Amino acid sequence: MSRSLAPLLALTALALAACGAPAAPAAPAAPAGKPAAVHAAAGVTPGSHEDWCGEHEVPESLCTRCNPALTAAFQATGDWCAEHGLPESQCRTCDASRVFVRPPKAAP
Ligand SMILES: [Zn+2]
Ligand SMILES: [Zn+2]
Repeated sequence: MSRSLAPLLALTALALAACGAPAAPAAPAAPAGKPAAVHAAAGVTPGSHEDWCGEHEVPESLCTRCNPALTAAFQATGDWCAEHGLPESQCRTCDASRVFVRPPKAAP
């Protein structure tokens, strides 16, 4: 019994050693340095999921930091924080609770 088992065990150990050689699967390389798009494309519907500035976390159509031309409109309605250079309604420095919620993605 033990006479016939010993060579078998030795063979198995050899086979395991051979298979256990470093054969780590190569991880797929991540695309290098391409940041995700955080700004809305031109022509999106204001108020839609796509209308979103990921950098400033406000609707892109209301983002004065991305589109300074919007500033005058906010100032005209009195919605302006001169201290921080932002619409008052977006100024989280003045009120941290002013968090915009991104609209959900429309069903395809
Ligand atoms: Zn922005
Ligand atoms: Zn402010």
